[in-house]
Amino acid sequence: MQALGWILFFLLVAVLLAYKRAVLSVWTIAYFVLLLLVSVFSHVSLAGIIVLWVLFAIIFIPLNILPLRRQFLSKHIMGIYQKSMPSMSATEKEALTAGGVGWEGEMFTGIPDWKKLQELPEIKLTQEEQEFLAGPVEELCGLISNWDINHTWHEIPAPIWDHLKKHGFFGLIIPKQYGGKQFSALAHSQIITKVAGVSIAVGCVVSVPNSLGPAELLLEYGTEQQKNYYLPRLARGEEIPCFALTSPVAGSDASSIEDHGVVCKRMVDGKETLGIILNWNKRYITLSPIATLIGLAFKLYDPDHLLGNKESLGITCALIPVETPGVVTGRRHFPLCSHFPNGPTQGKDVFIPLEFIIGGPSMVGAGWRMLMECLAAGRSISLPSMSTGGSKRAIYATGAYARIRRQFNTYIGTFGGVQEALARIAGYTYLIEAVRLFSVTSIDRGIKSAVSSAITKYHVTEYGRRIVDDAMDIHGGKGICMGPHNYLAQSFIETPISITVEGANILTRSMIIFGQGAIRCHPYILTELNAVQSQDLVTFDKALFKHMGMIISNKTRAFCLGLTNGRGAGAPNNDLKHHYQRFSRFASAFAYLADVAMLTLGGKLKRKERLSARLGDMLSYLYMGSAVLKYYEIRSNREELTTVDWICQYLLFRLQEAMHEFLLNLPNRWLAVYLRFIVFPLGRWYDLPVDRLGKNIAALIMEPSSVRERVSEHLYTRNGKYPNPIADIQVALEKSIEVEPLLSRLHQAQRKNQIQGMTLDEKIKSAIAANILTPAEGEQLLEAEKLRLAVTNVDDFSLDEFRRTD
Ligand SMILES: Cc1cc2nc3c(=O)[nH]c(=O)nc-3n(C[C@H](O)[C@H](O)[C@H](O)COP(=O)(O)OP(=O)(O)OC[C@H]3O[C@@H](n4cnc5c(N)ncnc54)[C@H](O)[C@@H]3O)c2cc1C
Repeated sequence: MQALGWILFFLLVAVLLAYKRAVLSVWTIAYFVLLLLVSVFSHVSLAGIIVLWVLFAIIFIPLNILPLRRQFLSKHIMGIYQKSMPSMSATEKEALTAGGVGWEGEMFTGIPDWKKLQELPEIKLTQEEQEFLAGPVEELCGLISNWDINHTWHEIPAPIWDHLKKHGFFGLIIPKQYGGKQFSALAHSQIITKVAGVSIAVGCVVSVPNSLGPAELLLEYGTEQQKNYYLPRLARGEEIPCFALTSPVAGSDASSIEDHGVVCKRMVDGKETLGIILNWNKRYITLSPIATLIGLAFKLYDPDHLLGNKESLGITCALIPVETPGVVTGRRHFPLCSHFPNGPTQGKDVFIPLEFIIGGPSMVGAGWRMLMECLAAGRSISLPSMSTGGSKRAIYATGAYARIRRQFNTYIGTFGGVQEALARIAGYTYLIEAVRLFSVTSIDRGIKSAVSSAITKYHVTEYGRRIVDDAMDIHGGKGICMGPHNYLAQSFIETPISITVEGANILTRSMIIFGQGAIRCHPYILTELNAVQSQDLVTFDKALFKHMGMIISNKTRAFCLGLTNGRGAGAPNNDLKHHYQRFSRFASAFAYLADVAMLTLGGKLKRKERLSARLGDMLSYLYMGSAVLKYYEIRSNREELTTVDWICQYLLFRLQEAMHEFLLNLPNRWLAVYLRFIVFPLGRWYDLPVDRLGKNIAALIMEPSSVRERVSEHLYTRNGKYPNPIADIQVALEKSIEVEPLLSRLHQAQRKNQIQGMTLDEKIKSAIAANILTPAEGEQLLEAEKLRLAVTNVDDFSLDEFRRTD
């Protein structure tokens, strides 16, 4: 019995040390002291004590004597590592090392440092940025008629282009020294969100010159001469840029482009000039039909060795003025009824001097790295902002519509089915707003992370799609019948654009989030891989032992916190403590599962996309949960707590299910059973948020509230030069709420046969006559009805009018 007590004590100490992530020296000292205690106080026989000391010596001496450990242990593991290392192409390596590591890196440690999250400084818009949003951006929104752009004019009209150029919209990211605005990523994102909240087409036009393209590439890699010439012209809108990478044969696999350049010499103005003959066929290029300057990605070859020994020089980026002989632009694609300029471009034997390469001849072959580095940050901005703009419009309108639109003698938001959809709209919109702001402000803190931008791009656009789907369902026929008064259908139609552009979503989820994240963000794997490649045993050994310690610790933490439902995990002591603790529990479980998957599947994990996707989901839900907690804590408005509870419960459930599906599909079934025991020691017990919580958050968007206000911040809701179909919706909402008691009085009177009448008008008159309503109340009801119908009515057309639309 006493022996059993000692064994349990040994185990308890091991669990404690692993849980606390003690270093090897602490383990050694702890077990040394334990053995001393056993030797002095226990009744174990002398032989037993000698066996224990020998075991101690066998385990701890080689581990603590570094030369011994490296030679007899690490060196062998390094050999195994080398054999199972995933093969990586040069382009994959460049993608992996592009950008930095942000908050997502904390998840791979298994112990997110919540204090660090809390201490991240809040990034705010500068005075100048706020004025730009309140001035030129607000004015721009007033110039837009989204219906006419997409269904009458079939283009963005000249006054909008003039406004964009005049106010420097094309130079948001260009430094002031070149005449640009030099705005923060936050301001950039808020501007696109606001514009896209009115029109995705205009949002695209604003976002493209400020995202991956000539300006950004020049800023990062351009020669002084290129910057001095092009950046001021781009900032003033004198040059309209586009960036052409995608071609008919190379979409997602952009590195397989066939567009090529061959180094050659040509006589230019009587001078022999070293340059490139280019041939390309690109498609889907935004702004290309009207562009004056093409940023072109192509493969460069030097068969005559004019630049050196190599013949195949790799992907290269150059700036091609459209007037260069052989360049073809002008034709248009028709992306989902959205009339922003987008089309193909071809180049036939286009000659450019080497100086047209972005960064000059020294950047030959550096194109892929340039693109990966720029995409590292940019993906968080353009498309997530556009999706958020559409979602803000959807929540603002749908919350109100559900309260304004009445059926079965009550507003439709009282029906459980509608509440279910409204709760999703509220929860998802709060979620994506938090994630977008978390990621863009991280760029402003100096971190350009490819993984967090992939998480943001994928999830914000996916949730954007679900939000608009739910919004359409709640609007019924009002959402379906198109016309100037329909504020939803256009963004519903356009949604797949955000899903596909800048890395199609299926690929982003399956290959990028975890595929890049695992190696890029893991605290030790990249160091280990590099050490193996350079045969650096000392660095490998150091990283390996820290890595092993981390795996043991994460396994212990996942199991213990699984037993306590996160209780005991370090967390800020506030309203959100239990959420922090549960995310901590799953962070340990995720980090453990990720390590086991990488160790057991090695290079094969890359090809097992569905497993990689689920690991990516786990990472994403943890990242998004952190973003929501941070977003709430910035204001700590307790009115938003219910919404945060709903989202955290939803994310924890999704996390649990992603782990369950991962284990269900892990090829090694015995391992899966064991891992399930570790991460779900008491089974899967998280559920989706209960209906009561959903009902409460649905209510918050059907009335003026902090949540409604916060998620629709920066939405353009006024009338401008053209009527804004959501301009009157807030007034209609407030009036509808105001008259609800009057309406129920009217209905009650009708049920009791105290009033007569077929129409509302007649019933009101009868109620006034019967002293059930005062004349003022009757007026109030009629006014509310007028506002209500102005929102719920739909457009109709004559056949001639119809023919003028598409
Ligand atoms: C409106 C619009 C504007 C655009 N603007 C530009 C622009 O300005 N400049 C530019 O260069 N390009 C632009 N693009 C191109 C855009 O980036 C590509 O469409 C996108 O990269 C996907 O390529 P694809 O359409 O050929 O699809 P494909 O590559 O054919 O992919 C089809 C499907 O297969 C999936 N898939 C592919 N490979 C994998 C994989 N390994 N694992 C899992 N799933 C995979 C994808 O996720 C997708 O769902 C634009 C596209 C559109 C539609």
